[in-house]
Order: sequence, then structure tokens, then C-alpha cells
Amino acid sequence: MRKPFIAANWKMNKTVEETEEFVNSFLPMVKNISGVDILLAPPFTSLGAASRLLKSSNVILAAQNVFYEEKGAYTGEISPAMLKSVGCSCVIIGHSERRQYFSESDDIVNRKIKTARKNGLDVILCAGESLEEREANKTFNVLDRQLAGSLADLSLDGITIAYEPIWAIGTGKTATKEQANEAHAYIRQWLRQNKEGADDVRIQYGGSVTPDNIESLMSQSEVDGALVGGASLKPDSFAKIVTGAIKK
Ligand code: PEP
Repeated sequence: MRKPFIAANWKMNKTVEETEEFVNSFLPMVKNISGVDILLAPPFTSLGAASRLLKSSNVILAAQNVFYEEKGAYTGEISPAMLKSVGCSCVIIGHSERRQYFSESDDIVNRKIKTARKNGLDVILCAGESLEEREANKTFNVLDRQLAGSLADLSLDGITIAYEPIWAIGTGKTATKEQANEAHAYIRQWLRQNKEGADDVRIQYGGSVTPDNIESLMSQSEVDGALVGGASLKPDSFAKIVTGAIKK
């Protein structure tokens, strides 16, 4: 059975002080939970502070992005080795906001995953369709393209997939549990047809997850967890999502 996996993507939110406040309040709320993997992805500037506070805890530290080269003249970029040295064991790659605002193609996503994996970082790979694509019945074509491009020449070791329909991110419009399960089942099928070890890969749902809808989403056989934006910014709200993710 796949262990539930709940991840917080803070995006461009929280200073170092706000990060410390969150972690100090959140850790006691989840310290006895063992049935769920819990991950925090603060902004780069808060990774050091979060790492010190999360040491020896049950919470995994991740970054929200990484560069595909290992070192050199790439002003403003961050390498996998830098993330590891600050205490990260995982990185989110291919979030729709990076694809939309920073023109990240599937090829760039693929190069980032390769460099991250080569350096021993686990990866949460985001994929999902826009509203226009869903309404044109192109959801599965988009998933085919994103999975094939992003995972080209890669094994599934250390990979989690986050299915994030763009129309549900930050909009308050969650996919129904049936819509989420259908897309996850499609992703699982694609993985089975194209890679080894598909049944061990965790597939998270992302898009307006809250303490109120997590249990319903997690009741679905193919939903193994969630990637949470807005509702992960408050310790009690995120702790409730973590607790709600324990499979009944
Ligand atoms: C996200 O940032 O990946 C996300 C799903 O955001 P939200 O939970 O706010 O929709």
C-alpha cells in the first residue's frame, strides 16, 4: 500500500521569521503522526531556517524549483547540490506557475528532473490541464504529452506525480473526487504502460485542497495525497489536512 503523502507549497510567501513561527507552531501538531509523509516547500530564502527547525522531525524539507545545470555562470539559479547542502531531500518541478510565468517546457522540466535525481533529490513532478484544455476534452492528451516529455529517459525511482488541474489551483474550485480519481487512474495507466514500478508511485492531487475536502479526495483509490498551496500557509489548517489524509 502506498503511504499517503501531503506536501505544502508555500510559493512566494513567508519571510524567515514567518517560517520559524509556522514551524514552531506546526511541529507539535504533527509530531506523533506516522501514517502520512509530510513535506514543506518554503521559498529558497527560508530553507536554512526551516532545515534547522525540522532536523530530526518527521517533516521532509523540499524546494519549489531547481536549475538543470550543476554549477557555473547562471546568475540567480540554484543547483541540486545547494539544495542538498541546506537540508532538502526533495524538490517540486514543473509547477504550472513555472510553466506559465517562466516558460518552462516539458524539455526543461525533464532536464531539471534528471539533474535533481542524479544528485539524489526526490522529485514531485506537477502535471495538469487548463480549463480550456479540459473543456475541449484534451485532458488526457495534455497528460500524455507532459508525462512523456517530463519523464523521458528517466526511471520512476524517487518520483511522485502531482496531478494539478490548472483551473483548480488557487481558485477555490476543487476537482470532484471522481474527476481527480479518473485523472490519477489515467496517469497510473500511462506509467504502467511506459515505465517499471508504476504501482509504487504516489500520485498527489493539487488544486484548492482544504481541511474540508481532503477526506473525500483521499477516499479515492488512486489519490495518494495532496500538494497544497493556500491552505498550507496556516499551521492548524495544514495540520488538519495532514490528519485528514490518513486513509480510513
Ligand atoms: C499549488 O500551489 O500547487 C496549489 C494546488 O495551490 P492551491 O492549494 O492554493 O490551489
